[in-house]
Amino acid sequence: MKKIYKCKECNFKYKEKKFAKKCEEWCKKYKSCNIEITKHSIKNEKLK
Ligand SMILES: [Zn+2]
Repeated sequence: MKKIYKCKECNFKYKEKKFAKKCEEWCKKYKSCNIEITKHSIKNEKLK
């Protein structure tokens, strides 16, 4: 079972902690999502 990392601010889910952390930092700072970060989310991966 893989661990899922979630951004507490926008609830995007990531397989890698570094992206979840990046996202959370970005969300807190800018109150919006960075497509360069959210493209790594699990939701986006399923669309492939
Ligand atoms: Zn976020």
